[in-house]
Amino acid sequence: MGAQVVWLKRDLRLRDHWPLTEAARRGPVVVLYVYEPELLARPEHDSSHLVFVNESLAEVDAGLREVGGGLTVRIGRLPDVFGRLHDEIGIDGLWSHEETGLHVTFDRDKRVKRWCRQSGVPWTEIPQHGVVRRLRDREGWAKNWTERMSAPIAPPLEAARFADVPTERIRGPEEHGLPASKKTDVQRGGESRAWDLLKSFLRSRGERYPREMSSPVTAVDSCSRLSTSIAYGCISIRQIFQQVRSRLRSRPPGEWRASLEAFESRLRWHCHFTQKLEDEPRIEFENMHRGFDGLREEAFDADRFAAWCEGRTGFPMVDASMRALHATGWINFRMRAMLASFAAYDLWLHWREPSVFLAQHFLDFEPGIHFPQFQMQSGTTGINALRIYNPTKQVLDHDPEGTFVRRFCPELAKVPEEFLAEPWRMPGDVQRKVGCRIGVDYPEPIVDHAKAARIAEAKVERVRRRTESRQTSRDVFRRHGSRRGPRPRR
Ligand SMILES: Cc1cc2nc3c(=O)[nH]c(=O)nc-3n(C[C@H](O)[C@H](O)[C@H](O)COP(=O)(O)OP(=O)(O)OC[C@H]3O[C@@H](n4cnc5c(N)ncnc54)[C@H](O)[C@@H]3O)c2cc1C
Repeated sequence: MGAQVVWLKRDLRLRDHWPLTEAARRGPVVVLYVYEPELLARPEHDSSHLVFVNESLAEVDAGLREVGGGLTVRIGRLPDVFGRLHDEIGIDGLWSHEETGLHVTFDRDKRVKRWCRQSGVPWTEIPQHGVVRRLRDREGWAKNWTERMSAPIAPPLEAARFADVPTERIRGPEEHGLPASKKTDVQRGGESRAWDLLKSFLRSRGERYPREMSSPVTAVDSCSRLSTSIAYGCISIRQIFQQVRSRLRSRPPGEWRASLEAFESRLRWHCHFTQKLEDEPRIEFENMHRGFDGLREEAFDADRFAAWCEGRTGFPMVDASMRALHATGWINFRMRAMLASFAAYDLWLHWREPSVFLAQHFLDFEPGIHFPQFQMQSGTTGINALRIYNPTKQVLDHDPEGTFVRRFCPELAKVPEEFLAEPWRMPGDVQRKVGCRIGVDYPEPIVDHAKAARIAEAKVERVRRRTESRQTSRDVFRRHGSRRGPRPRR
């Protein structure tokens, strides 16, 4: 009798893991994680991602040891790794969760599927979230999502037989020939840490969630901070959803109901956005609305892009947000949207290069959210209202005292509050007094925001108004639009 192989991908947990539960019911199991050099070499990948994965794998291994097994780790290209394992022990069944990922993982899955067919190994893929494969129509999608999230949680693995196979060690970045992670203050991986986050959010941190999610000062604590745990599957959205519903049933006092409902919507958005990439994988590279093709490509300015990447645009909230990402791998939604908007409108950069850069720097990089969100914030979907963020206003509204800006842009530490949003307005004597000379210690603003935004808006609107463009918008909406949200502009 051969083994049932459970292939861990972005589902690094032992609880609510249906592939593991089903495989363990059928025979001896191998719980396998494969380091794939082609994925580690991708520009979207960062060593900080690998550190998080390794911490999560260590916990999976420890959990499996408690029930008499252990994690099997291999390194190599797929399906070659499966081929070798098949020669060693005979694979009777392959089990995994469905994945909506990059084109490279999509191509790899197609290779695996071919190999399974040729080798006579049945591969069972089980949905992990609310994303529907081969979806025909968005009607009824939200109802289906709620049903899936309310479905039973997989029972914990209490006993299983394990096939005895040699394993590699869990290897850090340097052992894969990658640089050490440069991030200094990042979240750590693992299933138990994900649960700690969820519990503290539902117990206390989340009470003022809708009020405090927009400021980078308060969002650090008041948002759930579960994104990386969700992205690597240390906890399932179904588990989170059911905990939220249970908390709602307990009739929590004060602001809690509104907070929990707003949070639950975000969980649905995760899958709503991921469904877009699942339905149309080309949007990893191409405009969702093809009417915008050619609009920004020619104008790509490498110097502007470098300034944006390095957090030296001269706009304190843009620079502080970017530098926060370099240090911690996380920033709140509004600041992500502002970074994307600044690249797309102020700097007139095509979204593709900035999106890959931020993918690398977001510890929680999730292709299915990332690319559709980037396109939405860059105005290339044709179905969302144009939203150009004013970086000056973001300081005034969300960090008026400069707690966040001063922390991540120490050159601005002594700049008086009245000049913090627009330090270039500081008179020369004030600049000298506070040790922040514009153009020397801190950059001049790279663009005139009001002017750049006006020009960008006019260019985008010109495309949107074309007759054929409106038809394409209707097609995009039919395919991807939320049936709950606003209709596209005619
Ligand atoms: C340009 C851009 C790129 C983004 N890229 C990513 C990404 O790669 N990975 C990622 O997880 N999120 C991404 N987001 C969405 C959002 O900013 C993050 O999910 C959120 O800030 C993570 O923090 P949290 O877990 O504390 O979120 P919470 O506010 O606590 O939300 C809970 C969960 O809901 C989901 N969620 C929250 N907001 C959104 C949203 N606007 N759209 C879709 N799902 C959402 C996430 O899974 C999140 O973990 C992006 C947003 C923008 C504007």
